[in-house]
Amino acid sequence: MSFKDVMGHEKPILLLQRAIAQNKVTHSYLFTGNDGIGKSLVALQFAKALNCLQGENPLDGCDRCSSCRKIDRALHPDVLLIEPEGQTLKVDQVREMQSAIAYRPYEGRRKVFILAAADRMAPHMSNTLLKTLEEPPLHTVIILLAKSPKGILPTILSRCQSIRFNSLPPQLVSEWLMKEKGLNENEARLLSSLSEGSPGKALEIKEEISEIPREELLKRWIGSKSFSMEEKEGWIESFPSQRENLHLILEVAKTLLRDLILIQTTGDQTKLIHSDLTEEIEQIAKQWETPHLLNRMDLLHHATWAIKGNANMRLTLEAMMLSWA
Ligand SMILES: [Zn+2]
Repeated sequence: MSFKDVMGHEKPILLLQRAIAQNKVTHSYLFTGNDGIGKSLVALQFAKALNCLQGENPLDGCDRCSSCRKIDRALHPDVLLIEPEGQTLKVDQVREMQSAIAYRPYEGRRKVFILAAADRMAPHMSNTLLKTLEEPPLHTVIILLAKSPKGILPTILSRCQSIRFNSLPPQLVSEWLMKEKGLNENEARLLSSLSEGSPGKALEIKEEISEIPREELLKRWIGSKSFSMEEKEGWIESFPSQRENLHLILEVAKTLLRDLILIQTTGDQTKLIHSDLTEEIEQIAKQWETPHLLNRMDLLHHATWAIKGNANMRLTLEAMMLSWA
C-alpha cells in the first residue's frame, strides 16, 4: 500500500507530501492520536515515499520497487519501526536506534526511525533520545508516535514537528472491517461503534465482544423493569473484575440502551447497532417511556466515567445498581 491507499488522515498526509514537494522534510516528527488509528501506517508510507526508487510520483511510494517492498516486509535496513515489548519501550531499544543512527543509509536516501509509544518511556530514555534529537545526523528522519503530547518532555516536543491524527468516523471503520477483514455488517457496525474511531482497537476487542452475552444483558439488565436485591447483587458479582473488561461491558450496555432509545423515539430499525437483536429491542422498547431509559443512560455514563477515572469499581457498580430500577 501507499499514501493513496491509507484510510482517512488526509490532512497529515498532505502535510508530509507538501514537505517532500518543498524539500522541507525535517529531522524529527511527532505523530499524536489514539492507539490503532494508523499513525505507524502513515509513518511507513512516508518512509516509502522518501526512499522509493521509481520516481514516477515523488510524493508517494510505488509499491513495486525493491525499496517499497522491503519496507512493506520490514526488511529495509534503513527503515526501523521500534515498538514496545510489553507496555513500555525498553532502554535497549532506544540505544539500538541511537547506535544505528550514527551510520549513513545503506541503500536508501534516508534513514527513517519510527519510535512507537514515545510517551511511554522512562525519563533516562527520554534523555538518550533528546541527545539524538539535538544533533540529528543528516539523512535521518525520526518519527515519534504517541497518544498525546502530554507524556513527552517539553525539550523533546520543541525539537519535533507535531502532526495530529484524528480518530476516524465509525462509518469508515465499519467499511474497512467489512472490506479488509471480511466481517459481516452486524459485526462491523457493533465493533466500529465501540472502537473510538480506531481500526486497531476494533480488531483488538473483536474476540472479547463476541463473548459478551448481549441478549442476556439486554433482556435481564438493560431492559428489565424490576429487580430483587438478589438480582442486583448477582449482576454486580457477574461483572468482570478487570477494569478494562468492565469498561467494555459498560460501553456495550450503553449501545444496547442507545438502540432501545432510538427505536422508541424514531422507530428506525436501519440504524440499530445491535441489528441482530432487532426483534427483542422492539419488544422491550414498547414497555418503556423515554425519560426512564434516558435516566438509565445517565447512570451508565456516570459509571463508565468513574471506572475510567480509577474510581473504586465495586462502589461504583453498587451505586449504579442502587438507582437502576
Ligand atoms: Zn517504490
